[in-house]
Amino acid sequence: MKRIALLGASGSIGTQTVDVILQHPDLFELVSFGVGSRVETARTLLKQFPGISLCSVMNEADALELSKEYPDKTILFGDEGLKTIAESDYDVLVNALVGFAGFAPTLAAIESDHDVALANKESLVCGGELITRALALHGRSLIPIDSEHSAIFQCLQGNRMRQVKRLIVTASGGSFRNRTREELASVTVEEALAHPNWSMGAKITIDSATMMNKGFEVTEAHWLFGVPYEKIDVLMHPESIVHSMVEFVDQSVMAQLGSPDMRLPIQYALSWPDRLPLNEPPLDLAKAGTLHFSNPDTERFPLLALAYEAGTKGGNLGAVMNAANEVANAAFRNHQIPFTMIEDIVIGAVHEAPFTPLKSVDDLLAANAWGDEYARGKIRKLS
Ligand code: NAD
Ligand code: MG
Repeated sequence: MKRIALLGASGSIGTQTVDVILQHPDLFELVSFGVGSRVETARTLLKQFPGISLCSVMNEADALELSKEYPDKTILFGDEGLKTIAESDYDVLVNALVGFAGFAPTLAAIESDHDVALANKESLVCGGELITRALALHGRSLIPIDSEHSAIFQCLQGNRMRQVKRLIVTASGGSFRNRTREELASVTVEEALAHPNWSMGAKITIDSATMMNKGFEVTEAHWLFGVPYEKIDVLMHPESIVHSMVEFVDQSVMAQLGSPDMRLPIQYALSWPDRLPLNEPPLDLAKAGTLHFSNPDTERFPLLALAYEAGTKGGNLGAVMNAANEVANAAFRNHQIPFTMIEDIVIGAVHEAPFTPLKSVDDLLAANAWGDEYARGKIRKLS
């Protein structure tokens, strides 16, 4: 029985993780979880999984209320609650938090000698250097949940890293893949939130439309697999059926294919190195018919190019990029800025930030604060 701690349990990845756990009650058990403000999800999970001893919600008032309803459970709150769960007793942490909030629990889990199944790519975009160091020090593993990285991880099984020539990360292109730059000026939040292939949380759906998400995934691949940026390519693939590929020194290319359903990579992260049946329709390639591939246009999608630049320069720039993006992404969703201003803000932040090395969590907090304040300053000037 694998005992699972799940942070971000009420989100898109979180609820699909619960679904996977429920499909294999003989193998997986939820022992603790964290949610944000969706207290109803906390109530449902506490009823569904009697073995849960520990949970955390965002606000203290909600935690007090839940404590009264469940006097035999430990109910925590805030960032400290997430950290306490990450440091508690379980076999694997599924980090399905969104944004910078995910970094501290990832690090806390590794430093308290746990493996992490990682959906929260922002952990690696901001602090890949610090996380990689902690993994080596504690002899722990990060198992990817992101579909592209799960695909690469699957293609690497039974192969040798030193014989890898190139990682090929596929990209659907997001909601606006067929729009010109001129057309982007007037797109709406509702249009941006309508992803053609995947149903995901709001933040990552907008990140997919700007292709910041694909830039983040290049950085994520760099840290997860220890491959330099010049050996990581992005390939446009609008059908989202080939989830990513690995090219080897003998020119052999391995790919992993599947329907666009996150439950497969979530389940593989929990069952690896085993595979388990999954209750979903099998992939029908004859129905898919034709698969398309093309090179990305980095002028059309400048945030993809920016992520390569920030990643290659390293230091504080990943954290600055992430923080500015987090603020700009939210401001677009709140109708405060037009879509194309997300790019202007994130590019401005990375280009104007004074470069500093990233040696400690304090360096990371400073970089995050710098990017956050830069973006807020730009948005304040508009009003
Ligand atoms: P989501 O917005 O649907 O869910 C996020 C969860 O985190 C929610 O439960 C929310 O309550 C919780 N949360 C956020 N901030 C919190 C805080 N400060 N304290 C406590 N809880 C907090 O997001 P999602 O789409 O599930 O994405 C989660 C992560 O997985 C992101 O990093 C995303 O990039 C990555 N990811 C998602 C998908 C997908 O299909 N949704 C695919 C690949 C990777
Ligand atoms: Mg992905």
